[in-house]
Amino acid sequence: MLILMNETATREQLDEIMRRVRSLNYECHLIPGDKGWAVGATGAGSGTHRIQVLECLPGVERIVPISSPYKLASLETERTKSLLKINDIEIGNGKLVVMAGPCSVENEEQVMESARVVKEAGASILRGGAFKPRTSPYAFPGLGEEGLKLLAKAGSDHGLPVVTEVLNSKDIDLVASYADILQIGARNVQNFSLLKEVGRIRKPVLLKRGMMTSIEEYLMSAEYVLSEGNGEVILCERGIRTFETATRNTLDLSAIPVLKEKTHLPVIVDPSHAAGNWKYVPPLSLAAIAAGADGLIIEVHPWPERALSDGPQSLKPERFRKLMQDIRQIAKSMGREV
Ligand code: PEP
Ligand code: MN
Repeated sequence: MLILMNETATREQLDEIMRRVRSLNYECHLIPGDKGWAVGATGAGSGTHRIQVLECLPGVERIVPISSPYKLASLETERTKSLLKINDIEIGNGKLVVMAGPCSVENEEQVMESARVVKEAGASILRGGAFKPRTSPYAFPGLGEEGLKLLAKAGSDHGLPVVTEVLNSKDIDLVASYADILQIGARNVQNFSLLKEVGRIRKPVLLKRGMMTSIEEYLMSAEYVLSEGNGEVILCERGIRTFETATRNTLDLSAIPVLKEKTHLPVIVDPSHAAGNWKYVPPLSLAAIAAGADGLIIEVHPWPERALSDGPQSLKPERFRKLMQDIRQIAKSMGREV
């Protein structure tokens, strides 16, 4: 932390600040500046929030953090990029992963056919929701455990690990008993008790950015999971809310290079929930890879016109096949493997 003193601060005020900083177990560094003194506080200390309150003391102009508040998620602390392994699939550190499948698991035929087509097209992880967060209480809420069973069966029959959402703490063990990756959805990104609970299990967590979460808030959410001991977190940009109504959300492509600069965690992109319309999914997918994403999660449905959720944004099998070919080309041109 850097404590900037104002120009008129007295020597007594400066001494008092330094005394306080030391009493909070920080090392104190006096830095002369053009417009007065600054005091640097470094070391483990008793918590930056306790330094922040010194801003009320006379002579202090401003207190500015000089290192990130998300220590475990930060690339400053952990200098090598994370590489996650799910069976023989690697995510992060240059590898590209494509997760695909329906929004919701609806029935056996639908999820089996989805698994078959996404596998054949070259996806390596199967997605599908069994517990769905729906805006309307009357909308299809997912099949619950039955959906988890069907998803796990479709995944194992086609050699695909599966990712599915967990909505609340009481279902974590159940979902973890079927899923290879637990998804925390956009609406739960700041459900801190849920984040702490998934931090205590030993399964990778796909943490989606909220529609109204700043990048710093998002990384603090990842920090909740990491701070409980689970280091396997995958970030996912899925569109944020803006004034634009032409798309369901606005895909924040700039979040990709920003996150890549700030964190060692892998970053994937969900163009389906960002766009809300299948037509925009291919160009956004390619743009995400060009911007440096570690992978994609894409909604694919064998019969989107019959889908119980998110049909309009789901790709038909042949469109997904074509997209996978284009993804391979973009990846190749960037020296990356799918
Ligand atoms: C989903 O992946 O089906 C989903 C509901 O995503 P999000 O939480 O990003 O809206
Ligand atoms: Mn969906």
